Amino acid sequence: MAKGATLQETLIQKLDYNQLTNCMRCGFCLPVCPTFKQTGIEAESPRGRISLMKAAVDGVMEPGISFEDQMNHCLGCRACEPACPADVKYGQLIEQARDAVETHTKQHRWWVRGVRKVVFKELFPSQQKMRLLGSGMHFYKKSGLQSVVRKTGVVGLFSKQLSDMEKILPDASGKGITQLLGTFIPAKGEKIATVGMFRGCLMDVMFTQTNIKTVKLLSEAGFDVVIPETQNCCGALHAHSGESDQAKMLAKNNIRAFQEAGVDYIVSNAGGCGAILIEYDHLLHDEPEWKESAGWFAARVKDISTILVEKGRPLQFADSQTSASTRVTYQDSCHLRNVMKGSNPSRQLLKEVGNVTFVEMKDAGSCCGSAGIYNVTQPEMANQILEDKMVNANATEARYLVTSNPGCLLQMKLGIDKHGQKGQMEAVHIADFLYDRVVKH
Ligand code: SF4
Ligand code: SF4
Repeated sequence: MAKGATLQETLIQKLDYNQLTNCMRCGFCLPVCPTFKQTGIEAESPRGRISLMKAAVDGVMEPGISFEDQMNHCLGCRACEPACPADVKYGQLIEQARDAVETHTKQHRWWVRGVRKVVFKELFPSQQKMRLLGSGMHFYKKSGLQSVVRKTGVVGLFSKQLSDMEKILPDASGKGITQLLGTFIPAKGEKIATVGMFRGCLMDVMFTQTNIKTVKLLSEAGFDVVIPETQNCCGALHAHSGESDQAKMLAKNNIRAFQEAGVDYIVSNAGGCGAILIEYDHLLHDEPEWKESAGWFAARVKDISTILVEKGRPLQFADSQTSASTRVTYQDSCHLRNVMKGSNPSRQLLKEVGNVTFVEMKDAGSCCGSAGIYNVTQPEMANQILEDKMVNANATEARYLVTSNPGCLLQMKLGIDKHGQKGQMEAVHIADFLYDRVVKH
């Protein structure tokens, strides 16, 4: 991209024009779009955003700040894709548009470059630095510093949203899964296959116990589990924020790590990570030398619930006669549902747990407002969406609200905290919920 190029010129270079013209403006995607449902504004819908992209590329409109805002207001939940009869790849279009906006912005704002460099290039790609972050969070929670900070209300001075999120910080750890379990965990009983565990960068320090329980569930179901130490962040946040070069670099490193491990499947327990892992072939589509390896990788990616149901030995759960029935509901991870097409196996597993009464939540497949870092960058819209979600969650009268993605899990914890239901309803990851009830061999 030539230095000094306009945003319009950058959009022309980055956007797939065929995909833009594939949209026939039918509007079937509008009723499923959370931002359109909240605002009723065409520009806040998938069709509206595609029209804006096309108008900018055709030179009908000069893309300015309001164009950038509309691209940033999109949650990237991709609920519009399964609803689209023309199979418009909206997820690819929004990433291309954001990539163009980011490329353009890089030329102007030095401070944006500084923050992004630290977060996207220094922190997320380095598991060592992520563990340091985990150690810091662990110290913050356990040393008494957290209660001092809360009493002073200092976080609230910066942002009400950050103050709310500080209350639901998980018990982070400075040790990742390989430091606690090693890099190989054998199958219990007869081995079915060898799986590679994708540990995730944030997942491994903020939800270490969930990673451990995921691996132990896989072992119970008959899988040898390998956890390649050289794997890194999946690159989802990078790709969704317009840092496509960095996302590609991370993807290549992961492909190498799991190919060297020689695994049959690659397992993710985070819908947000799994959705980009399964699309590494698309991410690297313009690099022919990576076609075969990226295809090999993408074809092996499975969500934890999907591999347990499709390939694993059936898990045994505690006898349903021994305890009272518990009401359980499930909040879909958008990326697990809309990209990995894996919303049913989770429900199937929950229904197999002995003492569970499964209650389907209204609009369980609609985004909760977490969407990566959306609830930090767009708190107003994220909170509106969360309010609606909690009305539906409360109506289930469930004791447990189960999810399959760390971002959704934190957002549900935030919703429960805000609605004062602590102690009556609990948000849990599906791996934790299942492992705590499975019969161990
Ligand atoms: S990705 Fe989600 S928020 Fe964005 S346009 Fe599609 S349905 Fe709407
Ligand atoms: S459903 Fe597909 S074709 Fe119809 S308006 Fe939406 S994106 Fe365009």
